[in-house]
Amino acid sequence: MSNLKEIERTDLAEIGSDLHGFAASLYPICRSITGNGIRQTLGRIQDRIPLRIHEVPTGTAVFDWIVPKEWNIRDAYIKAPGGRRVVDFQQSNLHVMSYSTPVHATLPLNEIRPHLFTIPDHPDWIPYRTSYYEEDWGFCLSHNQMLELENVDYEVCIDSTLEDGHLTYGECYLAGRSQDEVLISCHACHPSLANDNLSGLAVATFLAEHLSGRDLRYSYRFLFIPGTIGAITWLAQNRETAGRIRHGLVLTCIGDASGFHYKKSRRGDAEIDRAAACVLRDCGEASEILDFSPYGYDERQYCSPGFNLPVGCFMRSVWGTFPEYHTSADNLDFIQPVSLAGSFHACVAIVDVLEENRKYVNQNPFCEPQLGRRNLYGSGGRESARREIDARLWVLNLSDGKHSLLDIAERSEISFSTISKAARTLSQTGLLSPLSEVAAN
Ligand code: ZN
Repeated sequence: MSNLKEIERTDLAEIGSDLHGFAASLYPICRSITGNGIRQTLGRIQDRIPLRIHEVPTGTAVFDWIVPKEWNIRDAYIKAPGGRRVVDFQQSNLHVMSYSTPVHATLPLNEIRPHLFTIPDHPDWIPYRTSYYEEDWGFCLSHNQMLELENVDYEVCIDSTLEDGHLTYGECYLAGRSQDEVLISCHACHPSLANDNLSGLAVATFLAEHLSGRDLRYSYRFLFIPGTIGAITWLAQNRETAGRIRHGLVLTCIGDASGFHYKKSRRGDAEIDRAAACVLRDCGEASEILDFSPYGYDERQYCSPGFNLPVGCFMRSVWGTFPEYHTSADNLDFIQPVSLAGSFHACVAIVDVLEENRKYVNQNPFCEPQLGRRNLYGSGGRESARREIDARLWVLNLSDGKHSLLDIAERSEISFSTISKAARTLSQTGLLSPLSEVAAN
C-alpha cells in the first residue's frame, strides 16, 4: 500500500506547484452545475485519471429534485453609449450571474440596477451569484465599477442558452481487493473560484493519480460533480450500491493558508471521523474537529438520514467564514502550493489509516516478550528510537484481537504511522498476527 513516507518533503514541494498549476489551468473555465464548462473541466481531469463521464438528461427525477435545464454562455457585457464595455464577461466570468437567462436590450440605468450585485464592504471584489432554480438574469461587478455608472442608457447583453440538455458528472473508480468503497467527492461547478472548487478538485485528481495502479484494500470512487444536484443525482442513480461506501470524504476549500478543519459525519464516531482526527492530531499543522451540521457541502446529501453514510468534510477555511468566499478574491493567489501540498499529504495519510487499520493478536501474551533478544529494543537514547519502542509495547499490549491499530494510536497518542510501522515489524518477527489470519488458522 501507499506509504506516506514514500512521499518525501522535496516531492511535496513539487506536488504543491503541480497542484497549483493544475488549478491555474482550470481557473479560466466558466463552470456551472451543467453545461460545457463542467464538461471541459472533466475533460482536463480525464487527461490525468481514468474518468467515466455521465450525462443525465434534463427533467430526470432524482428523489425530490429534477435535473435542471442545461446552461451555456458565450459572451455578456454592459456597453456604454460610446460602445465601451463597462462590464465584460471576457474579463471575468464572475460578471454574469450563473444561470442567467439570455437578454439583449438597451435600458436606462434604473431598470438595470435591480439586476446588479456588488459587495460594498469590499469595493474592488466581484461577488459570485447564482440563480439555478429561479429564471432571472444579473450582472455581478465591483462596487467601484457600479459607482462609475451614469444615468444613461446602456446596452445589456447576456448571450446564454438555458434549454433541455444534460447534467454532467465524472466518476473515477479504482478497484481494490474488496468491494467496500472509499468515496472521495468534490464539487466542480464553480466558475473562476480557486479555494472553493478548484482546490478540492485538484487534490482529488492527484489523490486518484497517487492511488491508481496500487494494490489497494478498498475500492476507491472519486466523484467530480455539480454541488447539491450532482450528489443527489449520483445517490439516486446508485441507491442500491451506495451502502458499499465504508468511508468517505468531501474535499473543499483546502488550498488557503488556514489550518485544517474536519467536519465529522452525521454518525460522529465513524472510522473516517477517527482516522481524520488522528491524522490531524499528528500532522504538525493547526487543526480543529467540527461536529456534523446539516449545511455545508455534499456531505449533507451523503449524510441525509435515508443514507447516513460515513462521510466527513475536509477543509482548511470553513465555507462562508472567510471574506474571500464566493468573491473574485478567491483567486489563484488565495490558494498556495504549500497549503495544497499539505492537504494532499493529509489526505494520503488518512487513506493510509483506512488501508492499514486492522486488529492483530499478540502471539506471546503472557508477560512482555524479550524485545532485546529479537533486536527490537534498539540502542535507546534518541527520541525517535524511544518512540518506536513505546509503539511496539503499546501494540503488543493492546493487540488482543479487540483493539485496532487506530484504537492503539488514539490511546497511546503515538502517530498512526509509527504504530502501523511497529505492527509490521512485530509481525515480521512472529510476535504478532493479523486477527483474520489467526481466525482462519
Ligand atoms: Zn461555493
